[in-house]
Amino acid sequence: MEYNYLGKTDLKVSKICLGTMTWGQQNTELEGHEQLDYAIGRDINFIDTAEMYSVPANPNTYGSTEKIIGTWINKRKNRSEIVLATKAAGKAEWLKHIRNTPNFSKKQLTEALENSLKRLQTDYIDLYQLHWPERPTNFFGVLDYIHKSEDIGTPFEEILETLQSFIGEGKIRHFGISNETPYGMHQYLLQAEKRDLPRVVSIQNPYSLINRTFEIGLSEMAIREKVGLLAYSPLAFGVLSGKYLNGQKPENARITLFPNFSRYNDELSTKATQRYVDLALSHGLTPTQMALAFVNQRDFVTSNIIGATTMAQLKENIDSIDIKLSESILKEIDIIHHQIPNPAP
Ligand code: NAP
Repeated sequence: MEYNYLGKTDLKVSKICLGTMTWGQQNTELEGHEQLDYAIGRDINFIDTAEMYSVPANPNTYGSTEKIIGTWINKRKNRSEIVLATKAAGKAEWLKHIRNTPNFSKKQLTEALENSLKRLQTDYIDLYQLHWPERPTNFFGVLDYIHKSEDIGTPFEEILETLQSFIGEGKIRHFGISNETPYGMHQYLLQAEKRDLPRVVSIQNPYSLINRTFEIGLSEMAIREKVGLLAYSPLAFGVLSGKYLNGQKPENARITLFPNFSRYNDELSTKATQRYVDLALSHGLTPTQMALAFVNQRDFVTSNIIGATTMAQLKENIDSIDIKLSESILKEIDIIHHQIPNPAP
């Protein structure tokens, strides 16, 4: 395994982070524990979850993933050996079951954190992330910014003050942002510097062969400001494995089960996926290995958050750490990227 520092902290996290959002729906508690044991055995120390999980979000399974991690921590008694990341949900009208529409007020964040700590059976979170912005902006598949309102919701400085109080109480060690834009990252950095408030350590955004939008406005900031990317959905929900090509609907696979998850499989994404699959196979790589190795190798990536529903997938995904793509494959990838840029933002 390889390790990187989280932002400017002294916390070292594995280059592969274990994503968990299928545990509690597609995966049982026992399967979640099996994945955790295996990942730790492969020297992964970084685990990512969220209050909202498992997915798709619904009132009956809200918090189920954190509970599964909590029972594992309690069983293994290894809390100090892992770097645990979770998230507080941002504003979303469709999440009425979370505090009757979540936001980042001190009251709501305090309630969110206390409940996450209980479910996770721990007294601190290493990395507490704001899952998506409270203000209206472009994320979750929306590429272009359309200005909708002057109202940004809870001001950046107020959110930072709340996070500072959590750090002071020892309930979180660091904080990160997610699904953020360059404007958001800039504001968190600026307000922290101006007012001596906590500095953001990471940004968790989507990044994969078919969604490289991070490179447009954020990769330079990630490197220069040392706020590295925690790349999510590196396989574009499994699409980049190639298993949905030619109209296939693999049994028990995410998009077969939940066809509303349509972010990564429109016509253009499918066309790009076919090109990447062909390229991987022509170099003797599996499409999954190539897609994950590509993310692992990017210099602005602190950690690649993988997801798996079977142990065979988990093994293949972790094995990607040992694959290094040559300059010539990277050039061929860039040719496809320039011909079909970011089909699935
Ligand atoms: P992903 O790598 O794009 O998709 C993972 C899914 O692809 C698996 O659940 C599995 O689904 C399929 N898969 C995985 N390995 C495979 C393989 N070797 N061969 C074939 N199919 C394979 O990642 P993700 O699950 O979307 O995201 C990973 C993690 O990132 C999440 O658990 C979560 O922690 C985080 N995340 C964060 C956000 C955010 O808004 N911050 C959003 C999304 C995810 P099937 O078996 O069902 O096909």
